[in-house]
Amino acid sequence: MIRFNLRLRTVSLFTIGQGVPDVLGADIVFSKKMKITAYVDGEAQTQYVVYVPGSSFKGAWRTATSRIAESYGFKSCGEIEPKRISEAHRKLGRTCDVCMLFGQPVSPLSPFEASKVWVGDFEPVGETPTDIIARVSLDDKTQTAREGALYSMEHVLPGAEFLGEVRVFDEAKNLLPLLMLGLAELRTGVLGRRSLVDIRLEDNGLLNGLVGSEWLPLLEGLRKWLWEGVVET
Ligand SMILES: [Zn+2]
Repeated sequence: MIRFNLRLRTVSLFTIGQGVPDVLGADIVFSKKMKITAYVDGEAQTQYVVYVPGSSFKGAWRTATSRIAESYGFKSCGEIEPKRISEAHRKLGRTCDVCMLFGQPVSPLSPFEASKVWVGDFEPVGETPTDIIARVSLDDKTQTAREGALYSMEHVLPGAEFLGEVRVFDEAKNLLPLLMLGLAELRTGVLGRRSLVDIRLEDNGLLNGLVGSEWLPLLEGLRKWLWEGVVET
């Protein structure tokens, strides 16, 4: 098993809990969960913390990887629907490289059968800066404010950091370069999202010994933040 960490840093605002986490979706979702912080007189003291579900990150990573695979000589069926995936793989004569890494949805109940990549939840590093912004709901047709339609949304502010673990099965070692290319694509934010998250590889140089020397500059780049400063939204 190959293990390394990824550190995420928000570059723009992220709305907490926006959208439904989707294993095949393109968006990295920030969510909240209850965490036990201490026990006082046998009673658990709890607190809500912001985190990124591993499944949400993995879905976005898969989409980014699929997008760039063919440009670098790897194969991607580019499909998400089980029947069409089977059909595409049959034509290709094998399972495509993206499905080899991330698994293929064989049924709605086991969406990532045979996945070679495991992504843990991204836990907050230190305090997560958040902000609650009240918004007025607009009427879709007239773009005027509906009376009383005020709601609030909580955001993760730029600069929040999260740490998560990734495990890759040894048999997928030859696809590590594709996985890293997908990571590089993901942090450029070209997936059509308004929000940006930077990603840094923290592997203590481990991956250097597992890929060909032509990939070392890519790994070096991924060990540094891509984005400096913040994006105004
Ligand atoms: Zn495939």
